[in-house]
Amino acid sequence: MVDSFGRTIDYVRISVTDRCNLRCTYCMPEYGIESVSHFDILRYDEIIRIVKILAYHGFKKIKITGGEPLVRKDLHQLVAQLNQINGIEQITLTTNGVLLAESIDELVKAGISAINISLDTLNKELYHRMTRRDQLENALLGIKSALNYPQLIVKINCVPLGIKEQNLVEIASLAQNLNISVRFIEMMPIGYGNEFEFVSQKSIEQLIEKEYGPLIPVYEKLGNGPSKYYKIDGFKGIIGFISSLSHKYCDCCNRVRLTCEGFLKTCLQYNNGYDLRSLIRNGGTDEQISRAIIDTVDQKPLEHNFDKLNVKEKEIKSMFQIGG
Ligand code: SAM
Ligand code: SF4
Repeated sequence: MVDSFGRTIDYVRISVTDRCNLRCTYCMPEYGIESVSHFDILRYDEIIRIVKILAYHGFKKIKITGGEPLVRKDLHQLVAQLNQINGIEQITLTTNGVLLAESIDELVKAGISAINISLDTLNKELYHRMTRRDQLENALLGIKSALNYPQLIVKINCVPLGIKEQNLVEIASLAQNLNISVRFIEMMPIGYGNEFEFVSQKSIEQLIEKEYGPLIPVYEKLGNGPSKYYKIDGFKGIIGFISSLSHKYCDCCNRVRLTCEGFLKTCLQYNNGYDLRSLIRNGGTDEQISRAIIDTVDQKPLEHNFDKLNVKEKEIKSMFQIGG
């Protein structure tokens, strides 16, 4: 599909739950979360129905996210069914990795081709403080289990927090001996992310270059997203940056998002889109769902305006509710 600004939209990020086994301070509060009721969460058959129609409209790539997608039961069964849909070429997953070791075999068998694992620090005490859970070892086990599959693309996603003990150079060093991408993702002013200091890409580049030498740009397009990649002499893997604030990528945006409640969102920053769950549960036909998808893609805004204070239709939900 092509949106009203001429961008090809062929990628959907599907959140399968708003629940999570961690409580990252920039994403979720510690207590008082009102989870979406099980009844209100899209069933797998409803997700499949929507994706079949998206695929009919040319969508090719799916990212499964959440909350923590691996807390949803039998996720591999959803992946296997998505993998059967004509036109779907790639299904990838974003996870905190804590439950990955126990589900990796089934996920790979079901057709997952790439996994992004979120890991903000290798410091056990800071990991515990930032996620409010003592799960670093399980997250590392998850990464190790993914690396047992040479055909799987494994990326580490790290959100810089402006905290010295986070040791971003140590995180970057994971790409030294392993064939993985380590990506630094700028904190977005969404939900609890508003409470954190902004850490610029430039400052991280300087830290890494001081330790390991020059970052050499990779010009080849890698992955579905806006990441800018660099090689470092002697590194097996690569370093990436996703800097949606300091380097706006909206002109090449290729995605929509389906929340776990079945709301098809046009953009992270805005609350507009279409309530596909109500449409489906009120007997909507495939033609009506199709029309709703076309309308949603048509409404995609030109760009985010995170730097502006008064934005109309601003999203007030947090990342775990939207699906990051
Ligand atoms: N639980 C999974 C995980 O952590 O990978 C999937 C969902 S999580 C919301 C997806 C990604 O969003 C994570 O990499 C997390 O670090 C990132 N994230 C959450 N809040 C953010 C924010 N305010 N700015 C930038 N990234 C954020
Ligand atoms: Fe959970 Fe991911 Fe949010 Fe952390 S970033 S609280 S792991 S959903």
